[in-house]
Amino acid sequence: MMSEDRSLNFIEEIIEEDIKSGKHGGNVITRFPPEPNGYLHIGHAKSICLNFGLAQRYGGKTNLRFDDTNPETEETEYVESIKYDVQWLGFEWAEELYTSDYFDKLYSFAVKLIEKGLAYVDDSTSEEIAGQKGTPTEPGVPSRYRDRSVEENLRLFSDMKAGVYRDGEKVLRAKIDLASPNMHMRDPIIYRIKHAHHHRTGDNWCIYPMYDFAHGQSDAIEKITHSVCTLEFIPHRPLYDWFIEQLEIYPSKQYEFARLNMTYTVMSKRKLLQLVNDGYVTGWDDPRMLTISGLRRRGYTAASIREFCERIGVAKRENIIDVSLLEFCVREDLNKRAWRRMAVLDPIRLVLTNYPEDQVEIFQGENNPEEENGGGSREIPFSRELWIEREDFMENPSRKFFRLGVGLMVRLKNAYIIKCDDFRKDEAGNITEVHCTVVWGTRSGEDNSGLSVKGTIHWVSVPHAKTAEVRLYDRLFRVEDPGSGEGDFKEYVNTESLQVIPGAYIEQDMATAEVGKGYQFIRKGYFTLDKESTPEKLVFNRTVTLRDAWAKEMKK
Ligand code: ATP
Ligand code: MG
Repeated sequence: MMSEDRSLNFIEEIIEEDIKSGKHGGNVITRFPPEPNGYLHIGHAKSICLNFGLAQRYGGKTNLRFDDTNPETEETEYVESIKYDVQWLGFEWAEELYTSDYFDKLYSFAVKLIEKGLAYVDDSTSEEIAGQKGTPTEPGVPSRYRDRSVEENLRLFSDMKAGVYRDGEKVLRAKIDLASPNMHMRDPIIYRIKHAHHHRTGDNWCIYPMYDFAHGQSDAIEKITHSVCTLEFIPHRPLYDWFIEQLEIYPSKQYEFARLNMTYTVMSKRKLLQLVNDGYVTGWDDPRMLTISGLRRRGYTAASIREFCERIGVAKRENIIDVSLLEFCVREDLNKRAWRRMAVLDPIRLVLTNYPEDQVEIFQGENNPEEENGGGSREIPFSRELWIEREDFMENPSRKFFRLGVGLMVRLKNAYIIKCDDFRKDEAGNITEVHCTVVWGTRSGEDNSGLSVKGTIHWVSVPHAKTAEVRLYDRLFRVEDPGSGEGDFKEYVNTESLQVIPGAYIEQDMATAEVGKGYQFIRKGYFTLDKESTPEKLVFNRTVTLRDAWAKEMKK
């Protein structure tokens, strides 16, 4: 899956060193640790490709670990969607694990710290604790509970677990160093009281470990060798190492890389959830969302997302990736695999006045010229009346317009050259019909007329066409970096990001199009069947245009 012809990223360099020196016995065990509080997005895809990719490359394995220590925000629906998405991306985890399965073990780790005199129960309020933390240049002030005896701490902690206290009444803190320049080392909270129902442990627990007291320990329990996370965890690393050292558990190591940021989107589950809850989108899988499920519904292939993650590489510094790179990747992939079909999105009627009324000819069209033998072919019925694209006719064509206008000739894709003779308008001045004549002897593949025309246009035979709703998408935000400004990011939502075309005409065999398969509607882009499609009402999503229309728009 990984291309071997690129240079190593910095994590691979570390791993190769570790393998050479025999650290971790030469093993490579990674994990992907989502919190099940939302659907995965393209940033998670990056982390998935990295973690699973490392294990694949070095013959190791990757666990899927649900980091479920926040009972209030987590749901089983999210667990299921995450599993589906990881598999769909093409990865297989070694074990499916839950931090909540370690709650007993984590509790015993906390007891061990207390016994070593390295943790204490603090009755201070969260405001008092914050007030005593000091500043990066001034040391913190010890809480008056800091010197409780081991026995008292053990008893109080046990009572915390037994449900004797209310939320916030007490916390367990590690006893480290109130003068540390690293604020995370100033007696961090490691357990808090939360009387809340947990999606897996139910009401068994009313105390829950904090991230820093769960993540590294879970890594150690699973003997994770390389625990890869994003840059904001750099200041947590000394604490990660401290707990592992004090608890004398498996020496997992944390490494940090730059999170993926992309233009024209927000990339945090919290913000994505707001878009869903406030109705800016139809759901987590709205095709405009850069969630894995949204991208899939939009028609992105797993291969194109993996390729994107491979191309952006693994950086040590934050940057922002242009969404057009993702679009480029899906275009490249679909160009190789998508069947070509004709669809008219903004139809006007074209009448071939010299074509016999009831005649139907069947032309052959290649499914995909990029494939061997054109990927096979399909039959395309042709008749006297066709739908063509409104923009392919001009009443007063300019000299550079190589499509239809009175006196001009074009080729109808896979069919004849035609010549435009006349047109009809309604009272409002709209073109309603274009009249042309077939130039006989110009059938595609059998043309010996010697005529050469500059334009080729697509069409669909009127009596044979199927009707479909087509949904065209634009970027969900109007600005490049909606999450960065002062104001509410939702103010930057592009209210015109969805355009619905109710009555497009497509080739008849698109009635059997399949969800998850990509189709190229010639000249119009790549499309896929939407999950809301029914045999009575076909619905297609445009995955991406054929060229980068946005880049062109910006240059104007
Ligand atoms: P969010 O802020 O979107 O909720 P998170 O980091 O809280 O993201 P988790 O479910 O905790 O989400 O993340 C699971 C894994 O995915 C973590 O290892 C995290 O570092 C990684 N990850 C999350 N967002 C990104 C991103 N934008 N780029 C790369 N990795 C990411
Ligand atoms: Mg998180």
